[in-house]
Formats: sequence, structure tokens, C-alpha cells
Amino acid sequence: MKSFAYASPTTEGEALSLLAEPGDIEILAGGTDLVEGTVFVVETNQGVTGLVLLGHGEMNFHPTPDTEKGQVRIFAGSETLESRFDAAFVRLGTYETHADPSILKARPVDPRDLKRAEQVFREESPKSFVVDLADLTRDTWSILPGEDDFLAEIRTRRFDTLTYTRSASEAEDISFFERRRHRNIAVYASKSKLASRGRFYNEDDLAAFDVVDYDIDVTSVPERQWIDGRAVMRLKVRAPSLGQLTIRLADSLVVRSVFSDQFGRLFSLRVMNQNAILVNLPATVLQDTEMTVTIEYSGRLEPQAPERETLMLQQRDPAFVPAEADDPFVSKPEPTFLYSNMSYWYPQSTVTDYATATIQITVPGNYTCVASGEQRSDSPQTVATAASGAQPRKLYAFSAARPLRYFSFLVTRLNRADRWTVVFDGDDPAPDPPKTTTTRGEQPYKKLDLIVETHPRQTGRGKGVAERAVDVVQFYESLIGDSPYSAFSVAVIESQLPGGHSPGYFAVLNQPSSNTGLTWRNDPASFAAYPEFFLAHEVAHQWWGQAVGWRNYHEQWLSEGFAQYFAALYAQKFRGDDVFASVVRQMRRWAMNESDQGPVYLGYRVGHVKNEGRAFRAVIYDKGAMVLHMLRRLLGDDVFFKGLRRFYAASRYTKVGTENLRAAMEAESGRSLERFFERWIYNGTLPRVTFSYRIEQSSGPGGPNGSAGQTVVLHFEQTTDVFDFPLTVTLQYADRKPAEVLVPITDKVVDMRVPLEGTLRGVDATHDEATLAEIVAVRP
Ligand SMILES: [Zn+2]
Repeated sequence: MKSFAYASPTTEGEALSLLAEPGDIEILAGGTDLVEGTVFVVETNQGVTGLVLLGHGEMNFHPTPDTEKGQVRIFAGSETLESRFDAAFVRLGTYETHADPSILKARPVDPRDLKRAEQVFREESPKSFVVDLADLTRDTWSILPGEDDFLAEIRTRRFDTLTYTRSASEAEDISFFERRRHRNIAVYASKSKLASRGRFYNEDDLAAFDVVDYDIDVTSVPERQWIDGRAVMRLKVRAPSLGQLTIRLADSLVVRSVFSDQFGRLFSLRVMNQNAILVNLPATVLQDTEMTVTIEYSGRLEPQAPERETLMLQQRDPAFVPAEADDPFVSKPEPTFLYSNMSYWYPQSTVTDYATATIQITVPGNYTCVASGEQRSDSPQTVATAASGAQPRKLYAFSAARPLRYFSFLVTRLNRADRWTVVFDGDDPAPDPPKTTTTRGEQPYKKLDLIVETHPRQTGRGKGVAERAVDVVQFYESLIGDSPYSAFSVAVIESQLPGGHSPGYFAVLNQPSSNTGLTWRNDPASFAAYPEFFLAHEVAHQWWGQAVGWRNYHEQWLSEGFAQYFAALYAQKFRGDDVFASVVRQMRRWAMNESDQGPVYLGYRVGHVKNEGRAFRAVIYDKGAMVLHMLRRLLGDDVFFKGLRRFYAASRYTKVGTENLRAAMEAESGRSLERFFERWIYNGTLPRVTFSYRIEQSSGPGGPNGSAGQTVVLHFEQTTDVFDFPLTVTLQYADRKPAEVLVPITDKVVDMRVPLEGTLRGVDATHDEATLAEIVAVRP
């Protein structure tokens, strides 16, 4: 499969032009200044499926969507990314659809060129489409790209290797990737893809099967970072027909066996560098077929970083580097092992997938385990080990009766600090020993089993955290009218950085010890006046992010923006209006400063190109929360909170998008919110507004306290795109207290008439610190 033919452009000045999405990228081998350019053809029994380009090439990448242009500008400084290249490796489904082969002319092979082409092939080809056949063969085997698929590894002079792919099976079929730093620069749908699927998509639509239930049994040896696992997946086929299962499982885990009740032992192979295995079925199965697949696996698996709420991103910010890292008085942190959504520690679908589960985890006797699910009352049990003198082990059993997007477990040393039964009927919670809840199905839970466990040195904080968590849970339940899971554990772990992580049924709360010498101040998720912020944010994820899932990465604000806003609402309840106002003010500042990094709808990709986690948190967390706050002020509290309940009730245990939120809010308010979400979520610009006012003598009666017949006309004009947002204006009187007026700005020009209640001294429209608009006062 590695035979090379040799060719070059036919005439000087003519270039081999490879087109993937016409208009979005040009890869030119042999431009006008080409002296010696060569193209090697990779031939298989399916025809030409690859090319190696050597010589002086040119590449131009200029994506069509505005948002992607913005990301290319952030990466390259301009909306078109241009670079010369010396070598490129191309894989394609059908040669003829991407290039004109007739332009190539065969010529004698220069052995030095051939050697170089083979080297490029050897280095670049293992990066994609490669499967590992383990002990069957030591050769490298590739999967053929799909008919319209196209991949180019371009060794550019300016940016190292850039990878362009066109992959028809993806919902966003075009991607442009920087190999060196592992950054997605552009990811979007081609015109033909948009025509076939519409503007929005649910990643589930491309999933071939749906896992309904799991039975997972794992032994964790944390000090060796080793796990042995056995998972029974009960799944239902979604695709019209299916001959192969793609199952996600961490690359470092070795599959021992795959077994199906229907088909017996199954053959599997690993797709390299994709955290995925392919399981071949001996016969095609049809849609809605239910089957059970049991997978046994083991291997070394690194835990995921527990200290920060980051998805898809592993980033260290210079602002968080320990001030005195070598301080001998800083105690060594407890070893903590978190296996969660980034770990792929159990076999799963290629997308997050709501399922119920029973989970058993065996850990060394000196460790504690917390996992997704209600801990069975007879667990943990001590397990005898065969080897004499071997350390005893403990087996923990959990049951997740309500569906979760993914399952997680934490292994570390924990002390039980407190346990409460939180009752949701309006009575005060009582810290008596809880009864086992066996509620199943869709009925709302009447109570919640709440447990707080802490690292040994954090035990003093446990009771306070528990008391606060109880209050937060009750507050959220009162807003939403539901508590999605029957149990909730908080694991308070000492950590260098504050933060947390919240899978279903539990949260990890990182508590920095006071002596770590760390600072975490200048961040969109740090609120000095509100120390309960992280707890309130992580608890909110049980509703937003877990019970209500997001249907693709664009919709992550439905998790983070909502958790952030609910944390802000709790600040108001617990700490009062001033703290709430300061939290909102800070979220507004971050949101406005970082909005040009991309729209809320870009999800994890905001800040991704520059590895700037603060931009991500500013836009997805803070701007997302501010969008909710503006919507609330625009619709009024009653409509807004009814809309939230409607959205939650319709979305629970499913993956949804902004359009679902819009539908719920429109149903409750009876008005179109299309433009509201278009501007605030799908676009990244901010409104600019000019403001002026004038006083009119009106014929009607004036205010109750004189100035009869005077009206102030507040005049607003949006100078760019038309947004919808609330704006509070302050009327300053010479003879009475200032009065606030809420003006809904919902048109290009808004004139609001307010009867005056005294002698007007001035109007301030530029100091609303809860709206994301730039207001400039002008003379009328
Ligand atoms: Zn969060």
C-alpha cells in the first residue's frame, strides 16, 4: 500500500490545485515561481488515495462563516491564513473530486526526492485513519477515507504543520487544526452539510447507538494509576442498520475481551489516538435492536486534573503559579484521583449519552471512593485478598437510578464530616440519620441524601460546607420545583487552586489551604465578596449540565452560564443585594472585555486558539449568566422563572440547545425572542447606543408632586446591529430622591416618555451595570 508514482505539473506556471471546500482553502503545489516541484501519488487497490507534495507550495485558508473568520484572525492576525509550504501529505477518498490529475506529467524519479517523500509519508500518515491490529500484524494499517473525505497535513513555514480535514460523517465537516499546540482553529459545517441538516444539530443524530444502562465493575489501584474494568452496556441501535460499533475508551486501556449475548465473542480493534475501539458485529443489526455488550479491559490510566473546571482544555495560567512553590511549610497535598468525563475510564458512546447505571468500585482499604450514584447502604464492604499480607480492599456500590450524561469516580482519603436529609416540602431540614430513598421514575424526589466528606486536614470546614450546601440545594429546588437526583455528596479536597467539578450525584470542591501562597484574583470566576461561589456553582450543575444536558459543544453555556447565574442568585439570597450587584458588575466587566474573542455559541473554542482560559470563562460563564439576567429584566421575574421551570421540565435528562430555551421563554412570554438570542448567543458583537433626552410640556396631568404637565422623553438610538436589552435610567431631581426607570430597548430607535415628578436636574443612562451595552450620552 505504499507504492509511489511520480508526476509534476505539466507546464511551468501551472499548479496542481487541491480543493476541498471550494473557496475555503487552496493548496497549490507548484506556484508560478515553481522551479522543481514534485507530486508523488500513493496508490492502493482502490486507486489513488494519497499524495505527497514536495517543492514550493502555497496555502490560503479563508473560511466562509464570520465567526470562523474571527478565530482565524485571532490565530494568524488576518482573516485569510496564508503560508508557503515545502511539503504536504494529502489523503482523499476520490482523487478526481479534489484535483485535476491530468495536470500532472510523469517523469523520472529523483532518488533523493523519493527518499524525502517516503519520509514525509512515514511521518504524516500515522497521524490519522490508523488502526492498531495488535498481535495480528506489525504493519501499519489505515482505514480508507470516505468518498468525499479529504485530509491535508501541510508543513507550513509560518505555523508548522496545519491539518485541514473534510469529513462527511461529522456534523461540522470542515476543520482546520494546528498540530504543534493541538488547537482547533476553525470547525464548521460546509454549505452542503448545512443544506442537508439545517442550521442547528444535535450530536446524538449521528450516534449509531444509544446506551440505555450500564453495569460497571472497576478495581482501582490509584498509586499505580491502574484500573481493571468490566462493563456491561445495554444499548439500542439508532442507525438504520449497523455492522460495527465505535466505542470510546481511553487509548491506554487494553481491551481483554468483547462479548455480546446475541453474537458471542466479538472482534475489536483500536483506532489510534482517538480513544476509540471498533467492534465488528458478525451480522448487520437493524434500528431499535437492543443488545448487550460486555467489555473487559485494563491498563494504566492517569486521573484528570481535579483542580479546575475546564472542559477540553488543559491550561495553566501564569497568574496561578504558586508564589512560593518551594515553601517548606506548604504541606504535601493528599493524593487525589478523579476519573470523569475526560478520562474515558469505561466504554461509552462517542457522544455524551444519558443512561442509568450500577457501579461497583474496589479501592485499597486506606482509600475512600465517591462516585456517580447513590451509595448502597451496605457499602463499602471489605474484600478479602488472596495473597497473604496483602492490603485489604473495600468495595463501594452505587446506583444511579436517574439518567446521567456520564459517570465519574473519585478515589482519595476522606473523612465523613456531615450527613443531612434535605426535605423539599418546605419544612426545615433535619440532620437525623437519613432513610434510604428508593424513588424511581419521573416523580419528583421529596428529599435528598446530602453527604459531605473532606480530606483529613479539611475536616474543620466540613460542617460549614454541609450547612451551606443544604441551603443552596433547597434554594435551587424552590426555584426549579425539582431536585433531579436522590443523593448528593460533596468531597472537600485541599488543592492549590479553588474550583470544582460536578458530575451527577457528587461534586468535588477544591479548597486552597490558607498557606499555599497562591493567588486567584484576576479571574472571571473569582468573587472576593462571595466565598460560597464555587459551592453554589458546582451544586447548580446538578440541575444545569447534568439533569439538563447540552446537545453539542456550542451549547455549553446552558451548563456554565446557568450554573454561574444560579450561583449569583444564591449570592443575592444569602449575602444580599450589594454582593449580588458586585457579582453582576464583575461578570459584566469580564463579558464586555472578552466578547470579541467569539460568541457564546462558540463554546470551549472561545479562548482556545490562544489557550486563554479566562476568555472562555468570561464569555461562556459570565456573558452566559448576563444574558439570562438581561432576559429576566426584559421579561420580568414572573415570566422569566416560569420560563426557566418550563425549560427545565421539558429538558430534564435530555440534551438540548438554545432553541429549546427560546421556545420555553417564548411560550411563557408570548413574544418572539429570535433576535434576542441571535444577537446575544449566536453573535459576538455588543450593542452601541446613543442617548439623549428632552423635556416636553404635555396636556395631561403631571406627577403627584407638582411639575404638572412635564414629561421627559428618553431617546435611544442603536448605531450598529439592533439588540434587545433592558436599561435602567436614573432621573435626578433637584427637589426629591432620584428615580429609576427601566427602559426596554427593543428597536433601533426607542423614545420613552416619563411623566416628571419634580424638577429634573439631569438623566443618567450610562451607569446601568447589569446590561452589556455601551451607552454614550449625546446632545439632542
Ligand atoms: Zn461549571
